Order: sequence, then structure tokens, then C-alpha cells
Amino acid sequence: MSKPTLTLTTDVLELPHIGKRHAEAFRGMGLRCVADLLIHLPHRYEQEEAELSIGSLAELVGPQGTSEVQVSTRGEVARVKRGFGRKPRLEIQLEDDSGRLEIVFFNQPWLQRRIHPGQVLRVAGKVRLHGSALQMANPRWEQDDPEAPAPTGDSRLLPVYPASESVSSMMIARAIDAILDDAVALLEDHLPDDYRRERGLLRLDEAYRILHRPSDRDAVKAARRRIAFDELLLLQLGVMMKRHHRIKTLHAPALPLTDELQQRMAARIPFTLTPNQREVVSEIAGDLQRGVPMNRLLQGDVGAGKTVVGLQAMLMAVAAGHQATLLAPTELLAEQHAMSIERMLEGSRVRLALLTGSMAARERTRCLEAMAAGELDIVIGTHALLSKGVEFRNLAVAIIDEQHRFGVHQRAVLRQGRPGTDDVPHQLVMTATPIPRTLSLTIFGDLDVSTIHGRLPGRSPVSTRHVNGDDGEAVYVELAERVARGEQGFVVVPVIDESESLLKDIGTHMAELQAGALADCRIESMHGRMDREEREAIMERFRDGAIDVLVATTVIEVGIDVPNATMIVIEQADRFGLAQLHQLRGRVGRGEKPGLCVLIADPVTEDGEARLEAIVSTDDGFRIAELDLEIRGPGELVGSRQSGLPPFQVASLPRDFDLLRAARRDAEAWIDGDPMLQRPEHALIRRRLMKRHGEALGLVDVG
Ligand code: ADP
Ligand code: MG
Repeated sequence: MSKPTLTLTTDVLELPHIGKRHAEAFRGMGLRCVADLLIHLPHRYEQEEAELSIGSLAELVGPQGTSEVQVSTRGEVARVKRGFGRKPRLEIQLEDDSGRLEIVFFNQPWLQRRIHPGQVLRVAGKVRLHGSALQMANPRWEQDDPEAPAPTGDSRLLPVYPASESVSSMMIARAIDAILDDAVALLEDHLPDDYRRERGLLRLDEAYRILHRPSDRDAVKAARRRIAFDELLLLQLGVMMKRHHRIKTLHAPALPLTDELQQRMAARIPFTLTPNQREVVSEIAGDLQRGVPMNRLLQGDVGAGKTVVGLQAMLMAVAAGHQATLLAPTELLAEQHAMSIERMLEGSRVRLALLTGSMAARERTRCLEAMAAGELDIVIGTHALLSKGVEFRNLAVAIIDEQHRFGVHQRAVLRQGRPGTDDVPHQLVMTATPIPRTLSLTIFGDLDVSTIHGRLPGRSPVSTRHVNGDDGEAVYVELAERVARGEQGFVVVPVIDESESLLKDIGTHMAELQAGALADCRIESMHGRMDREEREAIMERFRDGAIDVLVATTVIEVGIDVPNATMIVIEQADRFGLAQLHQLRGRVGRGEKPGLCVLIADPVTEDGEARLEAIVSTDDGFRIAELDLEIRGPGELVGSRQSGLPPFQVASLPRDFDLLRAARRDAEAWIDGDPMLQRPEHALIRRRLMKRHGEALGLVDVG
């Protein structure tokens, strides 16, 4: 019988060398066909040493050898024992004619079902001498397969694959090895040969072959570079295609900015805009006056004065007879925006409303009807604005505050145009978490960026200090002194979930403070479980000076603006994210008196410590965003995860920044020459682009 022809879509169930039971397990982890196997890349490589007998291991590590040595060996399981201790452990004794090796597996209790006395195992890992016993912890292992080729005795680079409980890395390695030659031969390269050669990129089939069957580390590096470039190029092509579509196909109302309107707007603002703010306003106005939908990011540190800038954009819409909306990440913030904007618009004809999730059904329905009928000019709201059934009559400007909490999909909701037309609203995204340069080119690649730098006039710098828990008392004494001078302060406590026990925690903490250093202060608490009226009332009283110290969860993270509050104490500060700490710190220093931020923490993790160090070291939000990227790595940040885009498999930022820049340049040129990638020579890359990013980037509507 001849071997059935292999294609990239051949099901793993049909692969002769994977048993049916195993094939099901492969499918369970998403490895359904040959192509899935091919793109399932090793996440690292191990230098496998030549296999040694157990007895000869002893000579390697002892008696004078003290260090750990990477080895591979095999033997028969003589005993399996469950160990008890802090971590679940399984102890295995492996023997051959020459000696005995103890193996300990930590945190893998399921192995007890898989490893039994009498089995012959091959293991690879670091061996060391524990007393007189040879030991190996968490080695790579596999049951000896009598049909597998005998070990060559050479050392080689061994791919280690992302694996699961039922499918080991070695099983995956063997499955891929068996199909590799046939599968790579089927691969079509979407990059033309000349283009590839000019950039020193490997062919696609070469790259995959090397990654699965590497000769050495340099080859792996070159292969990863090719795949990383592909990932970045595809994303950039998608972003550029979208940009092209927005600029060339879509329309938005052209909103004029007259001198008269400018004067009317200036009269409504109780201060003078800084030159920087004016510059940003004119950048935005420039966008709004064109008939092309604006897609702009406004970044500026906490309290930099972004909201008034956004307000100007909304007023341009209203003046032209259109609607505008402002989307805030929390109810509290939406409420605050509504309040402060209402104050500025007092006595004007602008009709403004607040739409949140906690509104009564009747009130909500009335608001929605007014929006749809065009009887409201500005609607400020939360996520509730994104739900089904929310319709504007003629939305022209959508502003999204604190963008990192909203994903690409959510932003798209506010991009919806009028049915039957190519008209969509202008969009302005405001963020206090500046996007590091490295990421600004990725998923944010289609955003034009405006920046407000520095501090507003009349603002004071905030100094930041870290103290250990033992010194917490002195911090509260300092807070009490400030209160005695007529100033106010915040105490922030970390919460994991806003549950009942949280309420108790806050209560206990308040009682302790009230009984101790803050005995003479008027203290109250605020948290996310309170309803809106309750929180508003508390904020009102804090603003009026009827409360000295507000003990709160991170509900105060954004937007609260009380110039008389000069000190913020953050408890267990190592449990907050860096961006969050910076936001919290921004609650003080909003008036003339210098602000103080004290972080109380006994950090237990390295990351926690690094975050504290970073926040103490700088007050610059841009620097902090970069440090955040360094500490957390990009996956966690505003990048892939929240955006809904598939994360990169190989590319990594900021490491591959140069590659990203090259990919961006190329993508720009390609899309310039062939906007929808419709030329025959682009068919393959277009197909791959659509498959990978079509949905996430909304390219489906683009063409
Ligand atoms: P953010 O950038 O964090 O959104 P806001 O827009 O909330 O900052 O501004 C913070 C505070 O500063 C607000 O009370 C706002 O009214 C005030 N503000 C904004 N611009 C100026 C300015 N040019 N001069 C004085 N105060 C300003
Ligand atoms: Mg703000």
C-alpha cells in the first residue's frame, strides 16, 4: 500500500505514526493538522548531551565536582513514591547496571498515573550530588520507545515545545520530525525572492525546517528573525490597509472652526489654555476640518489638562449641529467629567446627559430616545454607551478617555457610521498611560499622536517615598500634621475583588487609623461597591473640606481633582501595577502646595521591588510607561492582550524594534502601491493577512 499524500491540511488522525488516542490529545491542544504542527514552534532549545550510564554520572559531579551538570541518561524505574511537603512531589528511583539515580518531580502530581515501576525512562536534566545520592529535579523525560532510533551518542540542540499534561514535548517533537521534510516542501513563500534576499531573510521553508531541526544557535536566530519579520509585516500591512481605507474611503463631517466659535469656547473655560494645549487643540481642529475621520491619540500625564482639549473637539461638533460623546472607563470618572463639563457649559444651549450602567431603566430609556432623536448634543458615559441599542442621530466626535481599558473592538463600536453611508465619527483617544514608542508603531500604528508635556501652571511637583510596614505609623503622624494645617489626604488600600470581606478590611483599617495617629481627623471610606449617589456625596464633602482623609480603593485612581489634597498613602504598594501607582500619585500635587506620595510596602517579589524603585525614581509618565514595559514585558501591556489581537509567537518588543521599523516601512510602501493587496503577486500574503488579523483589525469591512 502506498503512503497517502500528505497535505498541510492532513488531519493528525490520519498520520500513521501518531496513534489514535494520542491524536485526540494532539487535537485537544489545538494541533489538528499538519500545518498546526508545522507552526507549533519550540519555545526554547536544550543542548542535549550524549547519553551516559548512571554510574558515570557520579564521576562527573563528584566527589570534587560540586556544580550541576546537564546530562542525559536512561534506566529502569525501581520505585515511585509520593512525597509530602510544601510542594507536591513525586520521587522516582531510576536504576541501571551501574548505579542509581533519584529523580524528584515537583508540582506534577499527575505523573504518578504515568510513571510505574518496571518502565524504562530516558531523562535529561541537571544532575547533582545530594549527600551521597545522585539527584535530578524536574528532568525532561520520556518512556523509552524501543522503536525510536538509538541515541547517536552526539550532543545536539533539542527543541522544547509548548506541551500539555497528556502530550509531552518529546511526543510533539517526534510527530513533527516525522512530517517535517514533506510539510516544508509544501510551504509557499509569500515574500518574493528578490525582496527576501535584499533584506537577508531566510526562505519560509528553510526557517521552519531550522526551527524544528536546528543545527546550531546561530541558525535558530536567523530563522526566528524571518518568522518574527513575517509577524510584524503582516500586522503592519493590516494597520496600513486600514489607515488607507479610513483616509481614502471613509468620510466624516467636516467641522469648521471659526474665530467666533474659538472665542465662545475660550470664554467658557475658567483659565487660559497653555501654549502646548493650544497647539494640540489646533492639531485636532485641523483633523476635524477635513472630511476624513480623525483617528488621534492624545497622551499626557495625569492632570496634564486633556479633558478641556477634548471638550473643544466636542464643542466643534455641537456648533456644527452634530452630536459628540465622551466614553470614560468608570462611572465615577464619567460622573466627574459630566459634572465639570456641565459647570463649564452652564447657561449655554448645549444639551448634555450622562449614560451609565447603574441608571434606572426608565431614565435610561428616556436618554436613549433623546440620543437617537438628536435631542442631546453631548452624551457622557461608560461602557453602557457601547451596548446594543445605543444609537446616535448624527454622532460626529467620539472621545475615549483612558484608552488602555478599552480594546480595539470596543473602540470600533464608536466608529460605526450612519447606515448606508461612508460617514463615520471622528475619534480621539485620551490616555494618561503614554504608549512607549516601541508599541506605538504596532497596533496603534494607525493613530496620529498629540502630546501634552509637563505640568500645568500652578501645579507642584510630587515627591515620592517608600517606607517599610514597620514605619507606617510615622507616615500617618505626618498625614495628621498636614490635616492639622488644613490640608487633606488619601489612604489607598489594595483589593483583589470588591467583595464583602473588602468592606470589612477597609472598615478595620479605618478604625485602626481613627484610634491611632488620625484620632483628630474626619475619616471616611469610599469604594466601588457604593452606589453612585453615595460616592458622589462623599466626593462632594471631600471637595468641600468636610472630610479630611479619604480611605479608598483604586476607585480614586482616575479623575479625582481636589487641589487641597496634598498627601497620598498607598498601603501594600507593591501589589499595584506601575501605571496604577502613577495614576494614584497623580491625585495629589494638583494645587499650589507640594504633594507627597508615600508607598508603604514590604515587597516580596522582585517585580514588586522593581516597581517601587521605578515609581520613586521618576515622576515622568513617559519614563514610567517604558519602565513598565521593561518590568512586565510587552504582552501584558496595552499591546496584544487587551487589544484582542493574536499575540506574536516569535517577535518580541522592545527587542525586535528595528525589525518592526523595517516592516513598517515596507508595509507602507506596499500599501501605497497596492492599497488592497489585489495584485496577483500579493494574493498569498493577503490571504495570510486576512486569516491572521482580518477579524481583529476589522479588515473584513475594509475589503
Ligand atoms: P487630565 O489630563 O488628567 O484629564 P484634566 O483635564 O482633568 O487632566 O485637568 C486637570 C485639572 O486641571 C482640571 O481641573 C482642569 O480644569 C485643570 N486645567 C486644565 N487646563 C488648565 C490650564 N491651562 N490652566 C489651569 N488649569 C487647567
Ligand atoms: Mg483625565
